[in-house]
Amino acid sequence: MTVHFPFDNSYAALPANFFARVAPTPVNAPRLIKLNTALAKQLKLDPEWLASNEGVDVLAGKRVPDGADPIAMAYAGHQFGNFVAQLGDGRAILLGEVIDSDGARRDIQLKGSGPTPFSRRGDGRAALGPVLREYIVSEAMFALGIPTTRSLAAVITGEKVQRETMLPGAVLTRVASSHIRVGTFQFFAARQDIDALRHLADHVIKRHYPDIAKAEHPYRALLDAVIRRQAELVARWLHVGFIHGVMNTDNCSIAGETIDYGPCAFMDEYNPATVYSSIDEMGRYAYANQPRIALWNLTRFAETLLPLIDSDEKTAIDIAQNALGAFTDIFNDAYQGGLRKKIGLFTTQPDDETLVQDLLVAMTANQADFTNTFRHLGAAAADPAKDADVRGQFTNPAAFDEWAAKWRQRLGHESEDGAAREKAMNAVNPAFIPRNHRIEAAIQAALADDFAPFEKLVAVLAKPYEDQPLMAEYADPPAMDERVLRTFC
Ligand code: AMP
Ligand code: MG
Ligand code: MG
Repeated sequence: MTVHFPFDNSYAALPANFFARVAPTPVNAPRLIKLNTALAKQLKLDPEWLASNEGVDVLAGKRVPDGADPIAMAYAGHQFGNFVAQLGDGRAILLGEVIDSDGARRDIQLKGSGPTPFSRRGDGRAALGPVLREYIVSEAMFALGIPTTRSLAAVITGEKVQRETMLPGAVLTRVASSHIRVGTFQFFAARQDIDALRHLADHVIKRHYPDIAKAEHPYRALLDAVIRRQAELVARWLHVGFIHGVMNTDNCSIAGETIDYGPCAFMDEYNPATVYSSIDEMGRYAYANQPRIALWNLTRFAETLLPLIDSDEKTAIDIAQNALGAFTDIFNDAYQGGLRKKIGLFTTQPDDETLVQDLLVAMTANQADFTNTFRHLGAAAADPAKDADVRGQFTNPAAFDEWAAKWRQRLGHESEDGAAREKAMNAVNPAFIPRNHRIEAAIQAALADDFAPFEKLVAVLAKPYEDQPLMAEYADPPAMDERVLRTFC
């Protein structure tokens, strides 16, 4: 018998209160929409078999593959600041883990594969639109070089799901370093189950932070390491204009990957107060709030670790506060370092932060497109005759000229030639991001059974730093009537 998934499951071997064993609910008439062949190969899976009837049945949850040990993971979480002691995978089922061709352990999870003991009032299902959105955005994030869960496949179930209207049901196969969240730690902390917390922390250290296993204080080192990964992750989001939309603690990955693509969006015009999510009424998860929220989430994480950090609570709190105190510097270093690269600086000078800030302020005041302003800045760095494309992003182009004079003066302090600078800038300033109106158009076409726009969008976004002149329209911001102001989960 051929083994199609060489599963090597570690999470399902943890104590029984970590999860509920539950199989996917079979569906009627599954149909493959998209298979990520490159990712399949990287996972040492056979793309041809995955695309076969048998493979598609597995991707739809109709058939459980040999070696799978399907579970729904238990977790808690703060949703918009309110603690819920039991959330858990309500519509996702972990089939198991495989070891990829780099030797890394990866979760293979079906999202939208039917109810679990954690479904509460939900139906356990996913609609086609959100599945395509997650596929597009997660793979775009990967191509941008930002840590993220991946999408291995999307299938239509052949069944309808009830939302505001009846919609085609779909299942996404999500791949992650793990699906362990801040909320997973909170689940056990809320139950004061210290043994489980230690078990979970040890599992996480072995799996995600093996270097700290031998540290003198591994649990303190774990806190430091998670703080670092989250701080660096959020800085990367800001560099590309990404707004997660639902930074609840249950959507905050312990491995430091971007996880749970719901009402997420990339902003067009730069404005730090931007919010797209229809459920984020207070703007808690606005673009520029994301670092603060990450720190808030990490503070909740630190609280769960207190009993492991030191038996004396006061000592533990001191240590945790000290660790959390490092967040701001780590974030600022990553954020400012990335911004310096975005404007083409190779060196660091004291006034650089002000220089970048001045640009961002001018961009906000002039409704400049975030992505295109930075992208065109590369060519302008090499040749001032190319300023026109950047100026065109500003409602008042003179605002750019004023800034550009200061910028060129600063560039004059470095010896790199223009071509080298443009190349370096184009490697950090994408030409293509998953713009909301393009995602929306791809989803609308898919609902009418035309998957060509989805395919084309995925293809363009696979090479975000390349110019792709034939695809130039994908770099355009939305026309007035194409603008998407709200996103939904
Ligand atoms: P999210 O807002 O996507 O992070 O989800 C929050 C919680 O709601 C998680 O426990 C999900 O598993 C659960 N959930 C979301 N949608 C559904 C659904 N359609 N059926 C069951 N549970 C769901
Ligand atoms: Mg979630
Ligand atoms: Mg979600």
